[in-house]
Amino acid sequence: MNDRYDVVVVGGGAAGLAGALALARARRSVLVIDAGQPRNAPAGQVHNFLGHDGTPPADLLAAGRDEVTRYGGEIVAGTAEDATRDGDGFLVTLHDGRDVRARRLLVTTGLVDELPDVPGLAGRWGRDVLHCPYCHGWEVRDRRIGVLATGPLAAHQAQLWRQWSPHVTLLLHDVPEPDAEEAERLAARGIAVVDGPVAALEVTGDALTGVRLTSGEVVALDAVVVAARATARAGVLRSLGLAPADVEMAGHVVGAQIPADPTGATAVPGVWVAGNVADVRAQVVTAAGAGLTAGAAINADLVAEETDDAVAGYRRDLSTMFERAAWEERYQARPAVWSGRPNPQLVAEATALAPGRALEVGCGEGADAVWLAQRGWQVTAVDIADTALRRAAAHAEAAGEPVAARITWTQADLREQPPAGRYDLVSAQYMHLPGDARRQLFARLAAAVARGGTLLIVGHHPSDLRTTAHRMHFPDMMYTAEEVAADLDPDVWQVCAAEARPRAAVDHDGRDITIHDAVLVARRS
Ligand SMILES: Cc1cc2nc3c(=O)[nH]c(=O)nc-3n(C[C@H](O)[C@H](O)[C@H](O)COP(=O)(O)OP(=O)(O)OC[C@H]3O[C@@H](n4cnc5c(N)ncnc54)[C@H](O)[C@@H]3O)c2cc1C
Repeated sequence: MNDRYDVVVVGGGAAGLAGALALARARRSVLVIDAGQPRNAPAGQVHNFLGHDGTPPADLLAAGRDEVTRYGGEIVAGTAEDATRDGDGFLVTLHDGRDVRARRLLVTTGLVDELPDVPGLAGRWGRDVLHCPYCHGWEVRDRRIGVLATGPLAAHQAQLWRQWSPHVTLLLHDVPEPDAEEAERLAARGIAVVDGPVAALEVTGDALTGVRLTSGEVVALDAVVVAARATARAGVLRSLGLAPADVEMAGHVVGAQIPADPTGATAVPGVWVAGNVADVRAQVVTAAGAGLTAGAAINADLVAEETDDAVAGYRRDLSTMFERAAWEERYQARPAVWSGRPNPQLVAEATALAPGRALEVGCGEGADAVWLAQRGWQVTAVDIADTALRRAAAHAEAAGEPVAARITWTQADLREQPPAGRYDLVSAQYMHLPGDARRQLFARLAAAVARGGTLLIVGHHPSDLRTTAHRMHFPDMMYTAEEVAADLDPDVWQVCAAEARPRAAVDHDGRDITIHDAVLVARRS
């Protein structure tokens, strides 16, 4: 058990395991805490679960546990005693004192069947004491079925079971005789009515043989049907303020469940419920379906939270990334940020140029400026970060005194105007600013080019956003060379190249990919 999970699921029955499976497959860290007592444990098989009909309940859950753990979900045996708020998540405490934190809670603790108090009844529950015709009706078809009447829905229950057998008896345990209309409906379907409370079950060997009335009369039967009151097992939710609410059927309370919306979300943000704890009528397959629905809703909720956090971070990055402090921090975090090699488009475009005065903007650790100086250019190299400039100067020193002497390192914010009309080459490699600021910067750089001089602007092409390169993901900061060219005055500028040039790269996963440089080469006439 780790001390924190995306989701803790309390209860590892059909609902909990289905929710955990959806979450584990959604790459969420998930822990299932399970006390190991599913409601249908006394039954021999699960019925009406398409594709799994007849499977023993324990086998179905064992397969489910296997599937959850196969995707990295964890399952721990234990009982969750309590869940409380813990910052923006939850603290779940187990009966043995262990505790675990979760960003979200999925509670699938099932329900308790409260059986009528008849001696011998509880011991045969799920075998020949039954409640649900869809779970057991087929297995007792055409047998002698006694419906123990303990509430106003008993006649309705007898009519339902009549679908499976012609031998149904209504045992008036603690309800009055049916009225004339009801008696007629029972008679019309051949349902016998027996008066008098049931004192006990008659069992021979390990089989039910009938019920004994308080009068001493024995009614021979093969199965007894009861209306168990179904109460959500929701103690773990008490501290969070969630309590079961009554569920009525035809004006009669049949149980209590935790109120939730169709996805299982409760009134407490971050807490979901699924299966019998939220729906006393849920069968195994519908409990599993509700678990899946809740798991998917929880994942969507986490995705929404993570997206909100990402937006806040993105805005924070955008508001600080052009400032001197942010660049300083970036350079100081690593001994070298850049490769130390000149940018390939600079080499491609400037090799044939006659050296003159060059403005190298955003010079970083100086590889381009040193390369230009080595070719005889007088370089003004500008950057916002002192750390980068210090490294660049050291790089130039290492290249030899004549090279270093040709470079002036200048700390400046490029959002300020460089001297107009002074440079034979202005090179801006991978300068990325948001739309308007970028257009203004490129206009200032264009103004700094002398007559006959060259403007070289190179950037990451917007199509890189669709690759796995993930170098940067600020769509508003990407540009095409054609867009940059469109801002140049055609009376002043001759555009020599405005294109996307492919370049081979390797992404973070080691894949060979092709990225593109947006390359603008323009000459001032
Ligand atoms: C006798 C019987 C036979 C049935 N037969 C069928 C059938 O044939 N077909 C069918 O579709 N349905 C059948 N059902 C209904 C079926 O049992 C439920 O629909 C199903 O179990 C609901 O699943 P669940 O995950 O909501 O709850 P459960 O299966 O009850 O699982 C809840 C789990 O949570 C655990 N738990 C509870 N509290 C805590 C806690 N605080 N901490 C940790 N763990 C906890 C429990 O121990 C249990 O393992 C039958 C029911 C009964 C009573």
